[in-house]
Amino acid sequence: MKLWFLTGSQSLYGEDTLRQVADQSRQIADALDRALPFEVVWQPVLTDAGAIRKMCVAANADDECGGVIAWMHTFSPAKMWIAGLDALRRPLLHLHTQANVELPWSSIDMDFMNLNQAAHGDREFGYIQSRLGVPRKTVAGHVSDPAVVARVGAWARAAAGRAEVGSLKLARFGDNMRDVAVTEGDKVEAQLRFGVSVNTYGVNDLVEAVEASADADVTALVKEYEDSYLVAGELRAGGERHDSLRYAARIELGLRHFLEGGGFKAFTTSFEDLGGLRQLPGLAVQRLMADGYGFGGEGDWKTSVLLRTLKVMSAGLPGGTSFMEDYTYHLTPGEEVILGAHMLEVCPTIASGTPSCEIHPLSIGGREDPVRLVFDAQPGPAVVVGLADMGERFRLVANEIDVVAPAEPLPRLPVARAVWKPRPDLRTSTESWLTAGAPHHTVLSAAVGAEELTDFADMLGVELLLIDADTTTRRFAQELRWNQAYYRLAQGF
Ligand code: MN
Repeated sequence: MKLWFLTGSQSLYGEDTLRQVADQSRQIADALDRALPFEVVWQPVLTDAGAIRKMCVAANADDECGGVIAWMHTFSPAKMWIAGLDALRRPLLHLHTQANVELPWSSIDMDFMNLNQAAHGDREFGYIQSRLGVPRKTVAGHVSDPAVVARVGAWARAAAGRAEVGSLKLARFGDNMRDVAVTEGDKVEAQLRFGVSVNTYGVNDLVEAVEASADADVTALVKEYEDSYLVAGELRAGGERHDSLRYAARIELGLRHFLEGGGFKAFTTSFEDLGGLRQLPGLAVQRLMADGYGFGGEGDWKTSVLLRTLKVMSAGLPGGTSFMEDYTYHLTPGEEVILGAHMLEVCPTIASGTPSCEIHPLSIGGREDPVRLVFDAQPGPAVVVGLADMGERFRLVANEIDVVAPAEPLPRLPVARAVWKPRPDLRTSTESWLTAGAPHHTVLSAAVGAEELTDFADMLGVELLLIDADTTTRRFAQELRWNQAYYRLAQGF
């Protein structure tokens, strides 16, 4: 993904000044290019309505352009921007900056004033964006300030997530778990709103791919498991359950083959529809998530979409991102925490150490015991995010949390897990979460946070409710009520 850097001005200033505008805006664009994990492409200074409109249409037409950063270095009369902004279909960031940090008190003259007037040029631009109702993020400050770059970076990561979900293909093996409400959703609306294409495949198509895996490939993958994890003795070569590990490897090879062949970057499984699979996929799903694939259990395609999107948004950042489910609580007053996990499928990118690879019975699914990675999550700040279909729109709900070490070891719990303190406290968090109707399946990310999620939701026009240290249940309930009205109005008739 690339970001285009647009500079606004006008022809009134003359060649000399416009040359300086070009030089200085190029320096700003270069500084962002160096600081961000995305290429920032400087574009020639825009001085009239025709060129502005052409530039915006060209940004729309370029699949590589994931977003546009605009800065009015000088004064760019904003009626020139109406047609362009009206046509623009890329995320927009209004960067309110200037070339110089310090005001040259002793030497400043009218030439300097006329060259460096973003202070009012950008106000003119802010007006027209608001008048047209153009969604955008506004960031103010000099690009040498790390806080400015961080805010632009969060937006750029959100734009990468938007670009990804816009062309994402998701494969479902089986439908949703029978009778479950919150994992359902409108797939047509999802494609319209997010771009993602969600389609179901017969699980026996996957079984064919699993059974077609070559024995030599299975052996090589089992070796990789033995090198990467603390593999239980009974699963190792020569162990009495080694065949189960080989079958788990076979599932991984088959799944990879199927997903790569179809260009899928996200998938779901269902324990109610395993066809000829001998194990519910556990280890395979965990390893595919670690490689960036989206996943949702019990046919939950919405959480799978969200996981893939957040994986892309967090690329290169420290901290992992995983499928997660709120499971059970520790409710001792003052020590309240949530224990999150899933039957098997937690991503090892959030592990605090080397996962152990184990085999245990699974009471549901009615198949052979599945192989899985077991670990505790790395303590630290994180966020859990859920996506619900409210019937007339999608709703994202996020909670800032602090993952903590379990108070005691969990020797009898045979699944990977995370223990966390939700902010501001368990009572406020869960009351707000439940009042919002947010799901039990979530994505837990220690890599991206509230700002990336806010920017992402804004770009797509999707509701985002944030539960953080400042949340009160009273304010939160009010926000829900206001949003109900806002989104109904914003949708039109
Ligand atoms: Mn579940």
